[in-house]
Amino acid sequence: MSTEQSEDGPGRVEPLRVALLGCGVVGTAVVRRLLSHADDYASRVGRPLQIVGIAVRTEGVDRSDVGVDVDLFTTDAASLVARADIVIELMGGIEPARTLILSALEHGAAVVTANKALMAEDGPTLHEAARRAGVDLFYEAAVAGAIPLVRPLVESLAGDKVHRITGIVNGTTNYVLDQMDRAGADFDEALKQAQALGYAEADPTADIESHDAAAKAAILASLAFHTRVSASQVHREGITAVTREDVREARELDCVIKPLAICERIEDASGAVAVSARVYPAMVPRTHPLASVHDAFNAVFIEAAAAGELMFYGQGAGGDPTASAVLGDVIAAARHAVTGGRSPGESTYADLPVLPLDSVQTRYHISLDVADLPGVLAGIAAVFSEHGVSLESVRQRLVSGGEGEQRANLVVVTHRAPDAALSATVEALAADPAVHRLRSVIRVEGGL
Ligand code: NAP
Repeated sequence: MSTEQSEDGPGRVEPLRVALLGCGVVGTAVVRRLLSHADDYASRVGRPLQIVGIAVRTEGVDRSDVGVDVDLFTTDAASLVARADIVIELMGGIEPARTLILSALEHGAAVVTANKALMAEDGPTLHEAARRAGVDLFYEAAVAGAIPLVRPLVESLAGDKVHRITGIVNGTTNYVLDQMDRAGADFDEALKQAQALGYAEADPTADIESHDAAAKAAILASLAFHTRVSASQVHREGITAVTREDVREARELDCVIKPLAICERIEDASGAVAVSARVYPAMVPRTHPLASVHDAFNAVFIEAAAAGELMFYGQGAGGDPTASAVLGDVIAAARHAVTGGRSPGESTYADLPVLPLDSVQTRYHISLDVADLPGVLAGIAAVFSEHGVSLESVRQRLVSGGEGEQRANLVVVTHRAPDAALSATVEALAADPAVHRLRSVIRVEGGL
């Protein structure tokens, strides 16, 4: 680590050496703000921050538009991390980001990262390396871009008990479902629009199959419940199966379909406590605060024992919004370098079991067309009761089955039941000869 007084003479404060790994969407925004806000940051920290190098992958690219001395760009990330006080990792992916972060920590540098994939896959290894080295590891930008969530969970709510987090943590999927709801678009149209606006990547798999949201849910659940939850323990369903019909059915119930990440602390009748982390599209009532989160915005709704309900809302992605979170971490790490102190380490003391979705209580909305004949309704009700599922509401209307045949459309909203029982009920209904068509099956969250 550098000393406070420069060799240039007394009175000149030695800058803190900052290295960036990656200079893409987020890295460029971070570099520009480090340059344009240099004086403010020096005043806030007590020492200037000096960029000593920026590692990139591709040689020979004209990077003059970034606005920094082009000699700072290097493809030798490994040696860069050894000569920095603060390393900002913005390259993404698992390797070489993990090796470089571990090397930076071993060299005594504080690390700030926005890498949700790496934190969700191997956060414990990084936390342990930071603890051993006695340096900071910050990752506010890894969850929901600009929205402060990591610090509120780790610090502001440290004296509370979080029961549940329900969040929209992926802007692309929120944009797609919002377009399907508000503009009547179908899934493919809405996705194309998201791509045209730069919200979705050319390969949108990580977003629409909810890998991105699952990584964020893993991080949020780990923080909220003081328990290690990895991305592979998060139940994950993408949004690709959501149809116009699902959206229409939701509207009829005065609901909207949202891409939810849910982290829940669950206590059973015997007092045993476990956690659940899951991501899937679900209906929420239009009166729920998350229903009014439009376009590519993110929002996270936290329910805690003493604080009650809290809502965090803002831009979950983009260069400048994400840079805001990154730079907040950089300033925190820099202040620690100047005045002492450490980022809070990993807290896993509760070590709660992570429940598979099958045993978690959820609610389903099921819309199905059946033959309009005596006894059919009783038969359908029997399928639910055979699986131990009770019904909260049933709406019936006559629909045309074609060729003059009358059918009944039943819209059922269940009470909470183990997800395994609900999905088995749906399977049994699909195989029931009285059921002509399952129009829509979708979970319901947030009361109705
Ligand atoms: P990006 O635009 O793809 O930029 C990645 C940068 O990393 C590029 O400069 C690239 O070099 C460099 N890089 C990639 N692999 C490298 C390697 N092996 N060695 C050296 N440099 C390498 O990515 P981004 O969107 O800025 O995202 C960066 C991180 O922030 C990711 O972890 C992402 O999940 C996270 N994040 C992004 C957003 C967002 O809105 N974009 C929001 C929240 C969090 P080249 O320039 O040579 O290709």
